[in-house]
Amino acid sequence: MSNQKRHQNDQYTNSPILPGEHLASIEEFESGKNTYVDNGSIRSTTVGKKVYDFRTRVVRIDQSNSPILPKIGDILVGYVEMLFGSMLSIRILFINDKKSSSGFSAITSARVSGGGWGRDRGDRRGGKIIFRVGDIIKGRVVSLLNSTIHIVIDEKEFGVLYTICFNCGGDTVRVNNNTIKCIECGVYEDRKLTHDYGKDTLLLIHKIGNN
Ligand SMILES: [Zn+2]
Repeated sequence: MSNQKRHQNDQYTNSPILPGEHLASIEEFESGKNTYVDNGSIRSTTVGKKVYDFRTRVVRIDQSNSPILPKIGDILVGYVEMLFGSMLSIRILFINDKKSSSGFSAITSARVSGGGWGRDRGDRRGGKIIFRVGDIIKGRVVSLLNSTIHIVIDEKEFGVLYTICFNCGGDTVRVNNNTIKCIECGVYEDRKLTHDYGKDTLLLIHKIGNN
């Protein structure tokens, strides 16, 4: 019998539960709303918040304010929260121009090709594609395999939408195809940029997404 949830004192958990996810064993709880029992394990039928009722010993999934899981083809905007190997993890802020507080993250390859940017293009400055934690990224969902949201950022409308200067935290502007410059300290850096890179684009997304 699984007792991994025994120590759980919080009634709510913060991260969204995905369909099929294990919630408790039938020895610990009874199966409540939006759950089913599979082989002694109570699992979720939907995306939502896990709620343990310790009085009635029922576990259920609450769908109120339940986050919407992105679909293939959706356009996501988020920030780089982690770099691991040649992958980026991106915390989603907006899905199709609508604010998302789901807490979902997407992953994408930091090896970007096509769109006039790639290994075959050669880089005369000797630089390479850089991503940093905090970069605002726009991309398109291409796969939801294994409950992981995969996005691509190769196309010209995708990539880094805005970032502040890594050196001084100043505002940056695009100076050519895939280079940004800090207007405070003058430092240059190469990024895979969206065609509409800039602070104004980010502010516009915020304005539309919060309405
Ligand atoms: Zn700077």
